[in-house]
Amino acid sequence: MPRKKTGKKNTSYHHNVIGMVYDFDGTLSPNNMQEDTIFRAWGIHKKDFWAKSDALVKRGYERTLAYLSLLMHDEAFQKKPLTREALHRLARHIEYYPGVPGFFAAVDRYLKSLPQVREWGIRVEHYIISSGMKEILENAGIAKRFKRIYACEYEYDAKGPVFPKLVINDTNKTQFLFRINKGRLEMNEDINDHMPEENRRIPFSNMIYIGDSITDIPSMTVTNRYGGHAIAVFDPRIPIPEKVKRLVIDGRVSHFAPADFRSASLLMKIVRRTLSKIVHSIAYNASSAMSHAWVARHGGV
Ligand SMILES: [Mg+2]
Repeated sequence: MPRKKTGKKNTSYHHNVIGMVYDFDGTLSPNNMQEDTIFRAWGIHKKDFWAKSDALVKRGYERTLAYLSLLMHDEAFQKKPLTREALHRLARHIEYYPGVPGFFAAVDRYLKSLPQVREWGIRVEHYIISSGMKEILENAGIAKRFKRIYACEYEYDAKGPVFPKLVINDTNKTQFLFRINKGRLEMNEDINDHMPEENRRIPFSNMIYIGDSITDIPSMTVTNRYGGHAIAVFDPRIPIPEKVKRLVIDGRVSHFAPADFRSASLLMKIVRRTLSKIVHSIAYNASSAMSHAWVARHGGV
């Protein structure tokens, strides 16, 4: 039996949350965040720093641990250790790609324009999963837009960082996609036990992953494999990089576009198109679920 048209939103279908997940460096910002913030304040040349980091990688360091180690043990940081307060303060220097600060409100406006969004109580949540530094990102101007920001974190004592307590790299980024998928967002919540699809908070089919590079391949692959939507972005100031062409050829992403987040950009058009697809799919599935529930309530077999 069809539902009565009351004009009120129907929130009985629980898979009505859309998850938009972003890489940060090279995706929302043209630079590595350490360059806009720490290197500038400590007077460090980025080429020197990354060369030292590469040297550690050659010695067997995991790439993210290499830079986190340098930020603790390199001479400049021995003399003047990082502090959480300094990282918070420096966050204001982060440079964004065009349109990023206004992008989230534009997504909200677009969703509000779709009648199915109100009808089914559909809403969007934004997440960052980054190999950069949480202490910087959590104080960035756009931080309040995100339900969770996952990034590398140190444990600090009064003098500075004592140990990296959370390290996020290319491959363990996928753990956080599953946290978002299962709704187990806290680090102390186990995510390895089986959870039926029905109980997962945000199905992958409701997810959009936006990243820029081969470092996003594991996340894009997981997103795609489970029915989600992956979009690659690249620096608008340069020709389309080979690595992005490769992501398309290898089927890692469904779309690619310059990292221009303004309303009239190709990227925004792709995002609107993808949101529309997800919204219509949620409405279809919700309506089907209602039919099944009605039959079950009225003696269906
Ligand atoms: Mg990146």
